[in-house]
Amino acid sequence: MMIIDGSEGEGGGQMVRNSCALSLVTGQPFRIINIRAKRSKPGLMRQHATAVEAAAAISGSTCSGLTVGSCDLTFHPGTARAGDYHFAIGTAGSTGLVLQTVLMPLLLADGPSRLVLEGGTHNMLAPPFDFIERCFLPIINRMGPRVSARLVRHGFYPRGGGRIEVEIAPAPLAPVDCTKRGALLGVGAQAAYCGLPREIPQRMLDRARKDLPNWEAADFAMRQLPEDQGPGVILMLEARYEGATEIVSGFGQMGVTAERLGKTAAARMRGYLESDAFAGPYLADQLVLPFVLAGGGAFTTVKPSQHLITAIDIAQRFAGRAVRLEQQSEGGHRVWVR
Ligand code: AMP
Repeated sequence: MMIIDGSEGEGGGQMVRNSCALSLVTGQPFRIINIRAKRSKPGLMRQHATAVEAAAAISGSTCSGLTVGSCDLTFHPGTARAGDYHFAIGTAGSTGLVLQTVLMPLLLADGPSRLVLEGGTHNMLAPPFDFIERCFLPIINRMGPRVSARLVRHGFYPRGGGRIEVEIAPAPLAPVDCTKRGALLGVGAQAAYCGLPREIPQRMLDRARKDLPNWEAADFAMRQLPEDQGPGVILMLEARYEGATEIVSGFGQMGVTAERLGKTAAARMRGYLESDAFAGPYLADQLVLPFVLAGGGAFTTVKPSQHLITAIDIAQRFAGRAVRLEQQSEGGHRVWVR
């Protein structure tokens, strides 16, 4: 059985989620030890446990060590089956990350599926719904399948309570070339908020605008959400190219000023705009699984993150396929699957 040491590489929940997905699509059982050893609270948190439970539920897989806090999990994969599934995380844990655990197996399943996921939709350290919808899923759809996602209700930390619905029409994943992002089509900034004074999202936008002087006033928008979806606030900066969309987020958090969030998000967006990479740092690690399962294709990205390096390492081990990461130019990198 494959043994994965969760204290190696990036050392977070991604190793658990990607291992479950890869185990289901390759049929190989695995054991992961030292789960999330590099995090301040090691072991499975509620959202990771839900992701593993979801992977098991869509496939009849069996697991041991699947409890919140567990640092040692063994997963014997069954066969992913199409269906109508509903998973509630019960905390503000990320619905997007649960989706990414079961999406690849369901894309290779025997028919269309529908997923309802409840939990967080716009929370730190995870892809916000908008990122899944406009950055990640368009690439999956370009590879052949048809996946559409709908945000029914926002869920912020700590309250959660968000809901997304996903329709999945499977098809074999075809290799795609994502090395050129094409011409810039448009940019936009949105601060979505609820249950907080309006001046907080306004200060985030003002600060981001100061650091993105080429963006027009009309590119900056506020969006007030129904009070019962909060409290919460998120700043999203979006750049749309012919071939790719990047969304950089600033998640409202206690103890961090609105100005600092706006400034950091703008600096990250400037870094992406000034590069000629297709994928930003987060999209890059999320593309590894579909590219490996497609058995080919390439994408360009910015400086590789530890998440990217770890995703490549785990995918190579399960799929037995070489994934190359090459430096191309100053700061530019290319990932390709042989
Ligand atoms: P982990 O830290 O191991 O639980 O993995 C977090 C995952 O969330 C990685 O796949 C990241 O690419 C993704 N992620 C974290 N923050 C963001 C963000 N702001 N936008 C998009 N994806 C994110």
